[in-house]
Amino acid sequence: MSVTPLESSPGTASPGDRPLRPATLLVRGGTERSNFRETSEALFLTSGFVYESAEQAEATFAGTEQHWVYSRFGNPTVAMLERRLAALEGAEACRMTATGMAAVNAALLAHLKAGDRVVASRALFGSCHWIVSTLLPRFGVETVFVEGRDLDAWRSALSSPTALVLLETPSNPMLDLVDLPAVAELAHAAGALVVVDNVFATPLLQRPLELGADVVVYSCTKHLDGQGRVLGGAVLGRTRWVEDILQPFLRNTGPALSPFNAWVILKGMETLALRVGAMNTSAARIAAFLEARREVLAVRYPFAPSHPQYALAQRLMTGGGTLVTFELAGGKEAAFRFCDALKLVDISNNLGDAKSLITHPATTTHYRIGADERARLGIGDGVLRLSVGLEDPADLEDDLARGLNAAREGGAP
Ligand SMILES: *Cc1c(COP(=O)(O)O)cnc(C)c1O
Repeated sequence: MSVTPLESSPGTASPGDRPLRPATLLVRGGTERSNFRETSEALFLTSGFVYESAEQAEATFAGTEQHWVYSRFGNPTVAMLERRLAALEGAEACRMTATGMAAVNAALLAHLKAGDRVVASRALFGSCHWIVSTLLPRFGVETVFVEGRDLDAWRSALSSPTALVLLETPSNPMLDLVDLPAVAELAHAAGALVVVDNVFATPLLQRPLELGADVVVYSCTKHLDGQGRVLGGAVLGRTRWVEDILQPFLRNTGPALSPFNAWVILKGMETLALRVGAMNTSAARIAAFLEARREVLAVRYPFAPSHPQYALAQRLMTGGGTLVTFELAGGKEAAFRFCDALKLVDISNNLGDAKSLITHPATTTHYRIGADERARLGIGDGVLRLSVGLEDPADLEDDLARGLNAAREGGAP
């Protein structure tokens, strides 16, 4: 029996239907069943596809017939994930990539050319920062960094014609926000495409396209898989841009997502709303727990009223997210004693996982940017970033209390 994909794609709602809600799209969006009527999404673990005839191959390459060609160009399992994520995000189109960095790189390099100008927020994920500060200038692209919280800095940077704006909100690791609607307006007036890295907020807690972004990028390695298994990335935007600008770049440079990894991420998405919901609730609770402890100098959590941009967070996001950043008294020594005393929370630079993870940015993820840049971003030596997982929050608080005691005892005069 041959497998002929059938047309059934919930998520691309038919006219007149009420649009499906996120929890439903996460389970059903984009699913396409073969004639075997499998329950789960089929895994088409194949690099290529075969044709009925030489004529069909010719027609496929001429573009007069639709047929799968090669998994670097597209794959049915990967396409199910693209449709599911596009439906969830409210985007016209989506393309998957092998990693989150491949997604950011593709969005930038597909759009830019020598002589263009890029404006980016300073607080970017380390590798995104490298692409903007080091890679793009090699190819004759002028790049300007601005302090993301400072609207006047954006206004002045965007007073010259600009091809692209890249920003991350909330940012890693200090959870600073960018006033996306205001920056998008300035960016559009300067002629720029607005690209937003929405990893920290997830598609559930912030909707950049509705806030003015043109393109949204994800590392699916984080919450979308969310169980520490695979790397993946996604770029979402308008059909015209995705098909005419992004797709030729992806097809010819080849950062394709493995169908197996796409399948894992599809299954991860089925539980995304449950996981992010629980992790978001625990993170808010843990932020309050840490704020009440005297070993902690400061807590950063977008939905904590102490966050300097609390009002903006309430405007942009529907939850504070799954990460909590805090600063211990006693600098690096206290931070290391804290991490080493933990028994439940793992020391790891990943985030968005079912397992809670702790990171000391100054010596790991943000080591390479140097002390000056860290100081500019407020990443002190006592700063720790906690990615809150799915454990019982009471157990996490016990573990964090263990860490805080160790941080204090080791350093107490
Ligand atoms: C992890 C991450 C990336 C890069 O994603 P990879 O899947 O690791 O390549 C980009 N931006 C942010 C904000 C991230 O957290």
